[in-house]
Amino acid sequence: MEVKKKIFGKKKTEKIYYHREEKRMYLLLIFTILWSIAFSCRWNWWRRNKPGIPILMYHYIGFAPKEAQNKKLWVSAKKFRQQMAYLKKHGVTSVTFKELKNGVLPDKPVIITFDDGRENNYTEAFPILKEYNFKACMFLPTQKCEISIEQLKEMQIYGLEFGSHTKTHPNLLKISESQAKEEIDISRKELEEGLNTRIIVFSYPYGAGAYNEKIKQMVKDAGYSFACGIKQGKVTLPITDNYSLRRLLVHGNDNIFDFMLNLKKGRSRL
Ligand SMILES: [Zn+2]
Repeated sequence: MEVKKKIFGKKKTEKIYYHREEKRMYLLLIFTILWSIAFSCRWNWWRRNKPGIPILMYHYIGFAPKEAQNKKLWVSAKKFRQQMAYLKKHGVTSVTFKELKNGVLPDKPVIITFDDGRENNYTEAFPILKEYNFKACMFLPTQKCEISIEQLKEMQIYGLEFGSHTKTHPNLLKISESQAKEEIDISRKELEEGLNTRIIVFSYPYGAGAYNEKIKQMVKDAGYSFACGIKQGKVTLPITDNYSLRRLLVHGNDNIFDFMLNLKKGRSRL
């Protein structure tokens, strides 16, 4: 009887042990699945590579001041340098909108843009652009531009391109038609006179919802060849709508994996 009992007891312990192991395995599996789902939502590695030209959209380079409203638009100089180094390492060539218009493009083109004309574009971004021999296009709201004419001319001599971002950075849908027309027309004239060059590109303040067909037509009538919004994505060739070019927003908290996914797949997050 004793022997039987012992054997029986051992079997029971083994059963419990296996049961615990099984439970642990299931928990691990569930954890792995949940982690994979979370990872794939944050980093869209599973998207197909998208063809087309990436237009990177930056705003401010440096550390966001405490009172800054849109902190995600601030990319540190360290990250910006890392991103430029990534482009260089992967044989990417920066082009201007003028080159896009002429249609002669290198193998791996990218257009680097900055909105709002903040001084940090000159103090922080420009030295890094020079370091990597990259061109860029800066969109300036002529009456709210922090960069001086001397600074603009210095960057122009180096090869940077400038576009209009209106005069006073309004939401073009929230002002009258005649005011919108003036914002679009006058800013172009001011830039052309100040910089003694043709201005061929415009960017809509507040991007996505802040323009419509009428505004697009006004931009076209003013003589611009292209206009950028903030809709996420790459520009596929041939371009079907010159006045609604998509861009790739670079967030301040993006890491280099986000940057790579953004360039290849047109977005890095859901
Ligand atoms: Zn803006």
